[in-house]
Amino acid sequence: MNQKFIKRYNSTDTIAALATFPSKAALGIIKLSGPRALDIVSKVFKPKNKKNLKKVKTYTLHYGWIIESCSDKKKAEKSDNLPVLLDEVLVSVMRKPHSYTCEDVVEISSHGGVFVVNRILKELCLVGARLALPGEFTYRAVINGRIDLLKAESILDIVDAHSQQGLQVALDQLNGKASKNINDLKDRLQLVFVETEAALNFSEDLSTDTAVSELIKSLTVIRSDITALIKRSAEALILKEGVKCVICGRTNAGKSTLFNRLLGRERVIVSEVAATTRDVVEETIVVRGVPLRICDTAGLITPKDLVTKEAVLRTQKAFGEADLIILLLDNSRALSRDDKFLIKKIKDKKKIIVINKTDLKQKLNLKDLKGCRGRRVFISALKDKGIVALEKAVAEEVSFADIDRENSVFLSAYQRQSFALIEEKISKALRFLGEGYTLDFINQLLAEALDEFSKITGEVLTEDVLETVFSNFCIGK
Ligand code: GDP
Repeated sequence: MNQKFIKRYNSTDTIAALATFPSKAALGIIKLSGPRALDIVSKVFKPKNKKNLKKVKTYTLHYGWIIESCSDKKKAEKSDNLPVLLDEVLVSVMRKPHSYTCEDVVEISSHGGVFVVNRILKELCLVGARLALPGEFTYRAVINGRIDLLKAESILDIVDAHSQQGLQVALDQLNGKASKNINDLKDRLQLVFVETEAALNFSEDLSTDTAVSELIKSLTVIRSDITALIKRSAEALILKEGVKCVICGRTNAGKSTLFNRLLGRERVIVSEVAATTRDVVEETIVVRGVPLRICDTAGLITPKDLVTKEAVLRTQKAFGEADLIILLLDNSRALSRDDKFLIKKIKDKKKIIVINKTDLKQKLNLKDLKGCRGRRVFISALKDKGIVALEKAVAEEVSFADIDRENSVFLSAYQRQSFALIEEKISKALRFLGEGYTLDFINQLLAEALDEFSKITGEVLTEDVLETVFSNFCIGK
């Protein structure tokens, strides 16, 4: 592994970071992990009960004050020379190995606010802590063997969860469900590998037809289980990332009004002046348990100026990426050239045709929509009519209910890539077996497949995998 990378994540340092977002919040949490965590905190912490923090029991909570590190605590206690107080805090102590990182961990709960938490963090660094890198606490949990990579990544998924179902899959993964399933698969492949290894070491080829057909049978079942796992992980992406649902329609059809109605708050400027929405605005909302990444698109179709042209390009990109399109038509106007243009553009996409402004006199001739296939829903975004029916239609269209949540697994892009490689190697081994190749070819392919398994669980930590996984984490996690 790259030495520079290991150096950056040097595990002998004691690291510190803000675990909460610095803002005007009730609390701020500063977290430390490493061999000197207790020693460092005790240099700036003045406990009310005067206990020596370095000697306190694990899983204990201590009330006191954070003081400036240059204040001489002993002298100050004896004289009137009071130390400079930084904040009133609670300090929790979790000693190794039963902590998040398997190291000594200390968490300081201070008051929230940007200045105070940064000031405490600065003091901790002045007395020996180093600022943590993104994901470094979780990285330590992995290298110290508390969790594997699958569990580490599920922590990210918990933080990012948009729905109850997504959260549940991530929690199951953290509990080891996915690791167990994947390790079972690996063990089964390992057994087949050992058989080929034994045959090779004893210089016997798999002479009998029964032995070869047994091998083929086992590998075929393993491969089909891997194929099913890849499929389930692709489906689980909906639980993880949500369904991309684009709202489109001509200018003034009511896209922003509907968008805000679905969001339940004002997010996009709603205006009677044509083309207020110049950009693609995206928000994630949960509709009947389905995380929907809703995009409100620029309504203009014909680029009249450069800004608009850019908006049109973005709109078209959003169409391309959409899992579901809500085509919004204005009930109070006849079908326009722009409407027809849009209908043509999204002809082959999964869509719901939503007829808005049903509170106004109907001028839209439904016969003009004859060629436009898709479920139809009638609403008034302004008057909040038909929104529940629309939400129901959306949930049904994305067939969210069909997802096998119980057996879902969240795999990252590199893990999916590794599984695809394993699948490919097993397929090749099966082909070689069928074509009567000598056993060493098959044995080599299975060894390579097993190596890929180790990358997935993190038994083998390569530099690129570590960089990919931990660069996605926030600092303090
Ligand atoms: P966009 O250009 O498609 O985003 O349209 P907007 O959401 O900005 O709406 C344009 C105008 O139509 C605004 O004045 C809205 O208040 C109005 N509008 C939106 N939905 C309805 C509706 O259901 N009924 C009526 N009467 N007016 C609506």
